This record gives sequence, C-alpha cells and structure tokens, in this order.
Amino acid sequence: MCVDIVIIGAGPAGASAALTFARQGRYSVLVIDKTAIPRDKPCGGAMPGAVESLLSLDLSEIVANRTTRLQLYHNYKQSIMYHTEGNQAPLLVHRRLFDAFLLRQAQNRFDGLMLKTGAEVRIIEEENNGINVVLKDGSRIQSRYVIGADGALGRTAESVGLMGDRRFAQSLEAEVIMKADAYRQFHNTMVMNYFCIPKGYGWIFPKDNAILSCGIGTWGSPINIRHYLDDFLLRSLPKEAIEAISVKGHPIPVYRGRRPIATKRVLLTGDAAALVDPISGEGIRYALHSGKIAAESISAVLEGDCSPNSIAQSYQERIESEIGMVLKRRLSFVSLAFHHQPDLFYQTYAKQLY
Ligand SMILES: Cc1cc2nc3c(=O)[nH]c(=O)nc-3n(C[C@H](O)[C@H](O)[C@H](O)COP(=O)(O)OP(=O)(O)OC[C@H]3O[C@@H](n4cnc5c(N)ncnc54)[C@H](O)[C@@H]3O)c2cc1C
Repeated sequence: MCVDIVIIGAGPAGASAALTFARQGRYSVLVIDKTAIPRDKPCGGAMPGAVESLLSLDLSEIVANRTTRLQLYHNYKQSIMYHTEGNQAPLLVHRRLFDAFLLRQAQNRFDGLMLKTGAEVRIIEEENNGINVVLKDGSRIQSRYVIGADGALGRTAESVGLMGDRRFAQSLEAEVIMKADAYRQFHNTMVMNYFCIPKGYGWIFPKDNAILSCGIGTWGSPINIRHYLDDFLLRSLPKEAIEAISVKGHPIPVYRGRRPIATKRVLLTGDAAALVDPISGEGIRYALHSGKIAAESISAVLEGDCSPNSIAQSYQERIESEIGMVLKRRLSFVSLAFHHQPDLFYQTYAKQLY
C-alpha cells in the first residue's frame, strides 16, 4: 500500500491532523490506530472553550458539560471559588466520544481518508525518498510523510531517534458513577485540590449522566499514587453516593523545553512530542493544535510553498511560537513556584491553569 501521508494514532492530535487534510481533500491519507475506535483514554477530558475556534467546529453535540465554577483547594484547605463564563468556560468531554467524533468529522468531509484500526505500528523506516511504516503483523505501508500522533507510549519517536529523554508524570483517573441526587451538588463545579499529593494535585470534573472524572497526578518522584487517590476520593466524595468506580492509569509526558520533534519526513505531535502543560498535565488543546500545524506544514511542502528540506525547521518554529512559548513560561517561573513555593503558586497561578 502506498499513500501520501500516514497518521499514526487517532487521538486528538491524529484526528485534528486528519480533519485538516480532509478539509483540503487533496491527498491520500491513512490513519492507523492499534485499538478499535471508539476507544477510551484515561483523561479528565477538560479543555478550554477556545478549542472550538481552533478546530472551526461546533462541539456542542459532544460536550458532556460546561461548568461555570472552579473551586480550588490547597491540600484540602483554603478553598477559593472562581467563576468562568461564556467562551472562557472550560468544556468537559468523554474522551471515548470526543476522539471518535473528531475522526468522524474528518471522514464525513473526505471520502479519500482511510482508517485502519486494530493495527499496531512496530517501527518506522525513514529513507531518502519515502518512509515505510511496518506493522506488528509484518505488513508495510509506504508514504511520503508520517505524522506521529501515537501518544505517550507510541513507537514513532523512538523509531526515528527523537524525544529519547522524555520523562513522565504519574497519574490515575477514576471514573465515578454517582447516585443522581448526590451528583447534583457537583454538576456545575470543577474542583482542583493542589498539593493533596506531593508535587501534584487531585481533580473532580463533572460530566453528564452523573459521571465524575476524579483523579490524581504528581510530577514528583515515584510514589504509591493509588494510596493518594483512595484518600482523595474518601475525603472528597460521600461514600454512600457512589454507584461504581473504575480506575485507570496512564503516563503523562512532561514538557521539558525545546526538543527536536521532526525529521525530514516525520513530524511528532501531541503527547508524542511531550506538548503537555508541565503543571496541569493539560494536553488535549496542544495535541489538537500541533496536529493541525503538522498537517498544514506537510501540505505547504506538497503544494510547493515550502522546500522539502526545510519542513522540520518550519514545523518546529511554528510549534515553538504557537505552543512552546506558553509551555516554556509554565516551565520556568510557574513551575518554580509550584515546586518550591506552593503558597505563592496557589495564590497567584493556580486559577490560571484551566
Ligand atoms: C489521567 C490523565 C488525565 C488527563 N486529563 C487531562 C485533561 O483533563 N485535559 C487535558 O487537556 N489533558 C489531560 N490529559 C492529557 C491528555 O490525555 C493527552 O495530552 C492527550 O490524550 C494527548 O493526545 P494525543 O492525540 O497526543 O495522544 P493519545 O490521546 O494518547 O492518542 C494516541 C493514540 O495513538 C494510538 N497508538 C499508540 N501507539 C500506537 C502504535 N504503536 N500503533 C498504532 N497506534 C498507536 C493509541 O491507541 C491512541 O489512540 C490527561 C492525561 C492523563 C493520563
């Protein structure tokens, strides 16, 4: 099989790249994912309302909730309530539905978009005049460009010698189904409990159907995170109001400053490029944004507007100016306050993170 572009991974980064190509409707594009779609991903599913304009999509049919209140705690104390409205209000989604919705939007716009699920990529072989994507079953796909959107545990980055120094934060998400009556008090408020775990925080994000995404994450050295999650749930939710809990973990790649994220034929996006807020662990908006930039960068070369030799540099520069600048600021003094002056962090920066 031979195509113009292979997108590895159908999460937000891959789906956003696919949507960008689908709107152009010119190239043969294959999206590969190792799982069946829809698939779930441990995630709070919170993102700023601004992603709708980034994607030029109305997301209302897929939004599980829009909260207007943000309640902060500093290790279960010092409660502060903030109010957000209009476009500033964060969106909450179920990732299983959101990711599949984005991909469907791409497929609906362009018949030429192909999808191969249940297909695990094992290795990428980059050559001068093209690239081979080798699947676990031994089959090979040839393409001109690859977008690595395969997340924290994907193979693309390693295959092409990029992001070898990635570090990961520990995180657990508990999807909690509440009794309807008890759920009501949570419905309009996102809760973030900073430092209820060393160098980290716990969250409660209310979705629809009486579902809460609760979780905990830490940027500190490895600890028994499950113990902190259990404590957080015990102290934050009325036990008798819980119908069911399902807990899943996933690593979060920590943004550590500018790193090469592209070669002549491979562009990394989203978690594969560690484009994740180094404090909040927020990565959906950066995955969506980088997927879009990657698709635009490849199109610019295929259209002859950019030299094939400068694609890595031009992609990297756009990522730095549109995403890296924000993450770098978080990494420098916000991160310094988070790790060394929790009180200052809590009073000054905590409310700005979502
Ligand atoms: C517990 C937790 C809570 C979080 N909460 C939030 C939040 O509230 N808000 C927020 O913005 N961010 C949050 N994040 C981060 C967010 O989930 C990620 O930043 C986001 O999913 C990155 O999207 P992506 O498309 O880069 O990768 P993913 O969403 O990880 O998608 C990667 C895709 O690649 C596929 N894949 C992987 N390897 C292969 C392979 N070898 N072959 C084929 N396919 C492959 C996977 O099956 C997957 O579908 C959270 C993360 C965690 C762990």
